[in-house]
Amino acid sequence: MRISFHGAVRQVTGSLHSVMSNGDLICLDCGLFQGRRKQAREMNSVIPYAPELITSILLSHAHIDHCGRIPLFTRQEGFTSNIICTRATADACKYLLMDSAKIQESDSDYLNYKTVKHFLNELNNSNFHNNEVSSKESKKLKNELKSKPHRLNKIFINELLKRFQLHRSRPLYTTADAENSEAFFHPINCVCPVEVGKNMHATFYNAGHILGSAMIVLKTVENGKKKTVMYTGDVGRYDKPIIKDPSSQFNEEDRDIDLLIMESTYGDRLHEPVVDLKPLLQKVIQKTYDRGGVIMIPAFAYGRTQEIIYYLHELYLEDAIPKMPVYVDSPLAVQLTKVFGEHPETYDEDSHAIFLEKGKNPFMFPEINYIQTVQESMALNRSKEPHIVLAGSGMCEGGRILHHFRHRLEDERNTILVVGYMAQNTLGRRILELGKKYAEDNRKGEAPEIRMFGSSYQLKAEVKMLAGFSAHGDRDEMTRFLKESGLNIRKIAVVHGEEDQSRAFCGHLKSIGYNAFVPRQGETIEL
Ligand SMILES: [Zn+2]
Repeated sequence: MRISFHGAVRQVTGSLHSVMSNGDLICLDCGLFQGRRKQAREMNSVIPYAPELITSILLSHAHIDHCGRIPLFTRQEGFTSNIICTRATADACKYLLMDSAKIQESDSDYLNYKTVKHFLNELNNSNFHNNEVSSKESKKLKNELKSKPHRLNKIFINELLKRFQLHRSRPLYTTADAENSEAFFHPINCVCPVEVGKNMHATFYNAGHILGSAMIVLKTVENGKKKTVMYTGDVGRYDKPIIKDPSSQFNEEDRDIDLLIMESTYGDRLHEPVVDLKPLLQKVIQKTYDRGGVIMIPAFAYGRTQEIIYYLHELYLEDAIPKMPVYVDSPLAVQLTKVFGEHPETYDEDSHAIFLEKGKNPFMFPEINYIQTVQESMALNRSKEPHIVLAGSGMCEGGRILHHFRHRLEDERNTILVVGYMAQNTLGRRILELGKKYAEDNRKGEAPEIRMFGSSYQLKAEVKMLAGFSAHGDRDEMTRFLKESGLNIRKIAVVHGEEDQSRAFCGHLKSIGYNAFVPRQGETIEL
């Protein structure tokens, strides 16, 4: 049996590993590399295997860094394999891959716009006289690159790319590629072994990371000898709302693991203990309501949004907050909340006791409104009554949350509630840091400035952060999983972490008696 590590090795994105045995080639995940555009694009374009060689793709969960390269694989001629995953993951992938394709498409539209604009600027700036285009005409062309202030004139841009023979950027994959990939999904149930190759069986166990997330045990018999590889995907936290904790119950025949491929995102960190986030949420909401303000929550569409909705529903049931309307203003989040609603088999005991056994859906209550159209969203921007709005994007880099900010940032009655990680160089991070600094200075002096849509806004709204919503287990939670699972593990390959996190987690594993190593990108090992 040969195991190769092709992605999320000494980094967190692009998860892809492969297992070769008895002539079968099984891919574990098929994730997108994310980060700097050019480098990510180059890495994403590399497909390590000819499509006809792949027997099956086993998918741990629907996060894009684990499934985002699927359309690149499935659109190749000769690709006929099944993509095996849980039912919830298959349902969520439908929307998340489509969303990813739209981002790829609009990314390349933007690059093409930049290419043409740069070319026309050069014509304007230099004294260089183009035989074909006068400087007056180039100015005119430039004015037509956008049909509205925020809408590119794509057809016109493509004409100019052709006319001036400029390089045309193409999306990594299209919405049609994403749509076509749906046909290859083969959803299965957890804990039941399925045949994935010759003499090869896989069993999925709940990973507690996100709705539908799984760990995968892959077993084979080679020359009469049993070999077992287990892949954790991403390991979740304990006591999170909605979904079950990481599984500690494994079938007897799955308990001897020759190689465990394990994530290490927070391998060197300890999260805040899972305090009940609900009282903190309650406080922020009450305070904002009392001053007649609006609570704006930028949130990722898959996971974080539903956790907040769940807590809000509980708070309303307990009469702990004033009954004001809640708006979910993100078409993607609305679709994914539906997926959450359709998979109660993944819910934990609390969700059953509080909601299902009483015939309630955790994501439906009188105050909640799911917004679909742009018109509804714009009407909400003008609403004067106190309310709570959840909108994308999670890091405030685009999406409808920006329009809520545009209308409400300069009103000190309002609150921006940060519930997720804000990466460096994102608007979300800037708002968080400037808001924090302004609060530390007791809100004295000029409010900090935020730039959006080419204008400046004063950040007078209060900025609050609720930490503790992470979907990844920290070092101790991952160790707890290893201990409680009671698995006999011969060796651990540490993946899915920045290099220092992976190395630190590897060191920690060794210190508690495991045989662990951190593979290199492209490395192959023999079992
Ligand atoms: Zn994940």
